[in-house]
Amino acid sequence: MTKLLLATSNQGKLCELRSLLCDLPYGLVTLSEVGIDIKVDEIGSSLEENARLKATILANKSQLLTLADDSGLEVDALGGQPGVLSARYAGENASDSERINYLLSKLDGVSWEKRRARFKCVIAVAMPNGQVELCSGTCRGIITLEPKGDNGFGYDPIFYLPELGKTIAELSLKMKNQISCRGQAVRNARKLLERLKEREGI
Ligand code: IMP
Repeated sequence: MTKLLLATSNQGKLCELRSLLCDLPYGLVTLSEVGIDIKVDEIGSSLEENARLKATILANKSQLLTLADDSGLEVDALGGQPGVLSARYAGENASDSERINYLLSKLDGVSWEKRRARFKCVIAVAMPNGQVELCSGTCRGIITLEPKGDNGFGYDPIFYLPELGKTIAELSLKMKNQISCRGQAVRNARKLLERLKEREGI
């Protein structure tokens, strides 16, 4: 079976990607399973550039069909920040809770109505020959006043979904996958992977 490299070392992403892709006719492998221990610097100025960069470099290194994602939170009241800088918003080595606290401090005094945000995920699928395709997904919500919920990872505890009355961290993995930006992006990537299988026998 053709291998598909899931090019992330983020355990939360890995768990979601596995559950969203496990029924495809590809053998899912991780960076550690193929002995790759390099971190690609996210030097692009957009999620698209970073996803493309990660997938291309790691497809070249592994010589495998490779899927990478770059995600970012865009908060209206912060003019779309942190966006592409979401991972480094509170400093290079900050933890998820430090990032959350930093973002909440930036929104101190901002009313509920003005706390609208989007989570965007861009997925790049790269082939060892350098060919790359991009897919994306977006999820809209509101940044809460304080964290709630223990599931998920990253900014999930402060991303509130008005239609469900819960933060993403209060959802099961299955439910998160149905509504999240990564879930949407992966559903698009699945179509691409199915096409590749049919058209090019990859
Ligand atoms: P990156 O895609 O790894 O650069 O992630 C950017 C930032 O968003 C990191 O701080 C991640 O922890 C966070 N993040 C990525 N995906 C999600 C998600 O699905 N929910 C909440 N936070 C996320």
